[in-house]
Order: sequence, then C-alpha cells, then structure tokens
Amino acid sequence: MTKEEFEKNVSNPYELHSIVVNNHVATDRLGVYILGQTSDTWSDFFVQRVGRSDGDLNERLRQHAREKKYPEFMFMYCDTLKENFDWECFLYHEFDPSLLNNDIHPDRPEGKRWSCPNCDVFDNESNQ
Ligand SMILES: [Zn+2]
Repeated sequence: MTKEEFEKNVSNPYELHSIVVNNHVATDRLGVYILGQTSDTWSDFFVQRVGRSDGDLNERLRQHAREKKYPEFMFMYCDTLKENFDWECFLYHEFDPSLLNNDIHPDRPEGKRWSCPNCDVFDNESNQ
C-alpha cells in the first residue's frame, strides 16, 4: 500500500456533481475517495477530505455532491472491506489529518476488530 500504487489506480479528478458521479462511478461498489480541488499552479490535487463507502461508493459521492462543500473528487474501487478500510486509513495518514476536514479517524466496519496499518488508535480499546 503506497502512494505510487494509489496514484496508479485512482481515477482522474472529476467535478463533484451527481450527474458526473453517475457517469463515472458504478453503483454497488466498495471504494475510497478523496475530495478537494485541482490546483491551478501545480499539477496536483489539493485534498480536503478522504472517505470510503463499504456499500455504494456512487451513492456516498452523490451525498457529498448535495453538500456542495467540495468542487472535485477522485476515487478508487476496492474489492474487499479490509482493503477498503486499509486504503482509507492510508489516505487519512498520507494526506495529514491536521490538514483534512475529517473530524475523526476512519472507523472500522461494524463488528471488525482490525488495527489501523498506520497508527495505534485502535490498539488500546480493550482497556477502555
Ligand atoms: Zn490510523
């Protein structure tokens, strides 16, 4: 799980609008996404939020489109819940939580006891 691997597999940036989402993102797929804006001055994507959907990425992105907080999105499909969770954690840490609008660390799917591959946020939960 590396940034190079993500950059190779992630989509192009698209306008975050329901119609555009429907044109590019299949329904009923798992996947992760980044929301933000393509920079005018350097060929990069300014990431403001990361996320994932464990059920329907298309629907999740259309929810964000209705919020109208972010102009563009990029996405990547994942095949399993574990892969989806690990990728969201990777992106969350890669893009620096202090710069993202994400309020909390990515959550695990219901009933899963996985650790974050990048930090120990879930490691002491049995003591709480
Ligand atoms: Zn973490």
